[in-house]
This record gives sequence, structure tokens and C-alpha cells, in this order.
Amino acid sequence: MTSVISKRAELEKIIQNWKDQGLRIGYVPTMGALHEGHISLVKRAREGADKIVVSIFVNPTQFAPNEDLDTYPRDLDGDLEKLKPAGTDLVYTPSVENMYPNGQTSEIRAGKAAEGLETDFRPHFFDGVVNIVARLSEHVRPDLAVFGEKDFQQLQVITEMVEALNLPIKIVGAPIIRDEHGLALSSRNAYLSATELESARQLNKILRSSTNNPEAALLNAGFDKIDYICERWNRRLAAAWVGQTRLIDNVEI
Ligand code: AMP
Repeated sequence: MTSVISKRAELEKIIQNWKDQGLRIGYVPTMGALHEGHISLVKRAREGADKIVVSIFVNPTQFAPNEDLDTYPRDLDGDLEKLKPAGTDLVYTPSVENMYPNGQTSEIRAGKAAEGLETDFRPHFFDGVVNIVARLSEHVRPDLAVFGEKDFQQLQVITEMVEALNLPIKIVGAPIIRDEHGLALSSRNAYLSATELESARQLNKILRSSTNNPEAALLNAGFDKIDYICERWNRRLAAAWVGQTRLIDNVEI
């Protein structure tokens, strides 16, 4: 059975009950509009835990005022349909007021891994992410939490944050799930028109190719703007825009 809980006190009662039974808790934080990428994280979490909690929370503090907070896709019923067969024990859907009582937003700052790349274009982003992950983890108290390698810099930032705060949580990275054309699945892919989708599907191919001018290749493929394409952590990582949609991806090098 999958319970859907929005109140912190109710969640904590269930978590405590599981902990009293010596059960290990696996946790997957998400912003909803779930796809096979998210479900793969749930499956990975099941390998290392007895009870699985998935949170669905569109975190306002990681969106800048000009970004897509209001239009970010939301589909709780669809999400629950996907989570139940994946073996999710509890879905936590806190409200904004629950997560940010008294309006307080930032207590901790993202560390060194946050320098450059995403931060050059979304300076607010990782401080928002580390704060919400720290807060949600305080509520869920997981033994293990799974994050996708799709957001590779985010995975590094969270690993660093958990080490810096000495939290007793094992952070696990899970591989990128792609469509049959290699496009990394993303909730934001729902924004793409048919022609934009064609362009988007070139991103992974260009990242894998040995072209010495990947920017030109992306523009040629129909991308409108490239935020970055560079190498770090033994990966080639990129963020680029097709129309109004920003895509990120990375491949091992
Ligand atoms: P989001 O709902 O976009 O905040 O993502 C929640 C989690 O799912 C993050 O850890 C993401 O890295 C992960 N994720 C999103 N897309 C994929 C994908 N295509 N493959 C693997 N993990 C993913």
C-alpha cells in the first residue's frame, strides 16, 4: 500500500514506527511530473532499503522569478499511478508553508561543487536545492537517498553538503534514463514541440561526438542558445536552450 501524506507530524510518526522496527529508509526527492527516470531511482532505492519514501515538492526557492515555477508541470494523480507499482511505501507531498514556516528560506549555502556551470546561469539554484534537501531529509530521516546523474552537478553538491553537515545519509547516484533517441528524460521535455524534440534529441549525440566545435553543432541542430558545454568530473556536461526550454545533459568521457 502507498500512503500519501502531506503533514510533517503524520510523516514523522510513520518514520519513527519504521525505525523502531529496525527498517532502513530509502528516499527519492522529486518535483513530480514523474517519468521512467524518477521510477528508476525508486527501484535503486529499493535495493538498499526496506521502506521507500518519495517526496513531491516543487521547490519555489530553486526557481528565479523569471523561471517556470508557475507553469512547471504538475500531475499528482499520474505520479501516484506510476509510484504505486514501483513499490513506493509513502509519498510525501508537503505544502510550501510546511517547508518554509515563517517564510525563512536559506540557512545553509551550497559548497565548492556549486561553483561555475549551473551557478553561472542560475545563481540562486543550488542554495535553494541544498536547503530543501536538508529540510526534507530532516523530515524523512532516510538511511539512503538516491539522486539522478542527469543532474550531475546537483549530485556533487548534495554529496558535499551531506558530508559537510555530517548527516547520516548515504547518497547514491543513479544512471541517466534516456528515450530511444538518447534524449535524457526530463519533466521539462513536455514543453517541447515536435520540431524542438528533434533538436533536443541531438544533444546527447553531440555530447558523445568528438567534434571540436560542439557549440556550432548544437546551433546547427536547432538549439537557440548554449549556456555551457564543458568538462568536469570526467564528464562532458551541457546546458542549452531549444526555444523556451532549457535542457541539461552529460556523458562520461
Ligand atoms: P526532478 O523532479 O527533476 O527534481 O528530479 C528528481 C530526481 O530525479 C533528481 O535526482 C534527478 O536527477 C532525477 N532524474 C530526473 N531525470 C532523470 C533521468 N532521465 N534519469 C535519471 N534520473 C533522473
